[in-house]
Amino acid sequence: MNDYRDNPYFELFSKQNENQFAVGNRTFKERFKTLDKLQRAIEVTYRTQIHEALKKDLGKPTVESELTEVYAIIGDIKFAKKNLYRWMRKQRVGTPLSLIGSSSYIKYEPKGVCLIISPWNFPFNLTFGPLVSAIAAGNTAIIKPSEMTPNCSELMAKIVADIFSEDEVAVVQGEVEASTELLKLPFNHIFFTGSPNVGKIVMKAASKHLASVTLELGGKSPTVVDKTADLDKAAKKILWAKFLNCGQICVAPDYVLVDEAIKDKFIAACKKWLSNFYNDNSKTSESYARIVTDKHFERLNTHLENAKSEKAKFEVGGQTDSESRYIEPTIISDLDPESSLLEEEIFGPILPIVTYKSLDMAIAYINSKPRPLALYIYSKSKSNTNRIIDNTRAGGTCINNSILHYANHELPFGGVNNSGIGKSHGFFGFKSFSNERAVMKQHTFGVTELLFPPYSGLKETLAR
Ligand code: NAD
Repeated sequence: MNDYRDNPYFELFSKQNENQFAVGNRTFKERFKTLDKLQRAIEVTYRTQIHEALKKDLGKPTVESELTEVYAIIGDIKFAKKNLYRWMRKQRVGTPLSLIGSSSYIKYEPKGVCLIISPWNFPFNLTFGPLVSAIAAGNTAIIKPSEMTPNCSELMAKIVADIFSEDEVAVVQGEVEASTELLKLPFNHIFFTGSPNVGKIVMKAASKHLASVTLELGGKSPTVVDKTADLDKAAKKILWAKFLNCGQICVAPDYVLVDEAIKDKFIAACKKWLSNFYNDNSKTSESYARIVTDKHFERLNTHLENAKSEKAKFEVGGQTDSESRYIEPTIISDLDPESSLLEEEIFGPILPIVTYKSLDMAIAYINSKPRPLALYIYSKSKSNTNRIIDNTRAGGTCINNSILHYANHELPFGGVNNSGIGKSHGFFGFKSFSNERAVMKQHTFGVTELLFPPYSGLKETLAR
């Protein structure tokens, strides 16, 4: 530990390190009570302040804040409280004949001192969500929220300080340097949500101490719309998921692969729904958010400029306003196959349309890119749906809907390879923050007594 004395967060880390067994050995009732306190803070005490902070940082409509932040965290907490007793219980397992006379169980013990690094797009949800799992599993945690949403980070620090002592849970605010220093410390587990590039930095830092990691990353999530799909419903659901939070969602449909025979009909349905959603004016609509920072606005504007210079077809949108960081919901087709919009994760309100001639071509296109966090399929054909699922890989899939698999606590949430390592939500989140300790107890004499030298008895048994 002496190696870390110069680290600005060493003292905080040491306090949690010393306290980890006291926290870890708390009873079910005590963990339940802690979750309850967090629930009350979000549901009652700080609810309005959460809306205000999200409005300041992201221009989030209050209904979206309720649905995707407050309601989502409360859902996580309620689910954890309902199942915690069962999750914490020893899981008895069977005993093979060769070990007769013994019994075995799995103990889900806390990993210890955990680091949670979170992004800015759903600041409360993606910070308190993992925290709920960390608390349920009996850990202490240091949280480093994103510097891009300072009002939200400030409020999270206040909420945490209100409920916890810093030797149990603490928030460290700061830029990349703060993360870098924290990552030097020998945490037992690191739960990171963010981009694949930073995920690699986190994993490299974790390897120094062989800390376990959960990496919730991003990437390009494809959406396939085949000839049999209900185009009107597909357009409505895809656009809602794409333009919610102004496209700044890890599981947003990144691009649509549509059968070329139905492209025009699909785009016509998209135009109808966009005009319905935002009353023909997304700029004045109270249902449409803004881009988080100037840097991200510029990044997205560059994509639009690239598309214009490639002579791609702007089916809808394309207008921007740098002052208010507004980007109109935009749908673009006929892009150059090497366009930046088809190579990089978009993370904004721009939806590329790519056409395909056969389902095999659509599958090959998906498989030519890194494995996505989500893959959406709009189809009435069971065989088409199964063909896509069986011949691709993805963290999760929604059929005839988008995003909503995220909301089922019974499902694991997470990516695969480039889109992530490990899972979160419900029991899967609890498991990520737990060590599955194997415990075997010898009760009476068993055949294992034959294991000891001299081996004459064992030799006879094996010879039989
Ligand atoms: P990011 O990777 O830039 O930042 C995430 C966090 O890492 C922030 O707290 C930031 O301060 C910290 N960080 C940034 N650079 C760092 C570095 N060099 N070293 C150490 N820490 C560093 O991501 P973002 O811009 O905040 O979020 C967008 C990305 O996150 C997208 O790729 C998106 O798909 C992904 N995401 C994934 C999920 C998921 O659940 N899988 C959810 C939301 C966002």
